[in-house]
Amino acid sequence: MTTKIRLVCGECNTVNQFPVERLDDQPICAECKQPLFSGAPISVNTDNLIRHIKHSGIPVLVDFWAPWCGPCVSFAPVFNEFAQRVGNQLRLLKVDTEANQQASIDFNIRSIPTLALYRDGQEITRMSGAMGLPQLQQWVIQQLTENS
Ligand SMILES: [Zn+2]
Repeated sequence: MTTKIRLVCGECNTVNQFPVERLDDQPICAECKQPLFSGAPISVNTDNLIRHIKHSGIPVLVDFWAPWCGPCVSFAPVFNEFAQRVGNQLRLLKVDTEANQQASIDFNIRSIPTLALYRDGQEITRMSGAMGLPQLQQWVIQQLTENS
């Protein structure tokens, strides 16, 4: 029996389900035919954030940020670069907490930037403050390894 994996489309928010082997095969959305991985973080609102966390077959890393926050804006290129590097191993999302204040409340975000890591619908860990790419990579790998 083939193991199926679920992924939410960043374009149309359809929950896709496909065999896990196809994860490495540049999967496209069954609904809108866009690639499920664009190599960039996906900007989401509160509803779609919950949808991704609930239905993602791979770990999800969320950057809670705001346009007025200097460290958040400086961190954006690091997060973009990380999205390119991780490819289909990790779902990277960005939530503008200014535009989506409900997300801050629902996810109990007390300072920004906050990075939060989820797997199988559950939060594994979170960290406040911006960091460089090597630190970000190391942190994520360490957290996923320790909590596997
Ligand atoms: Zn789609």
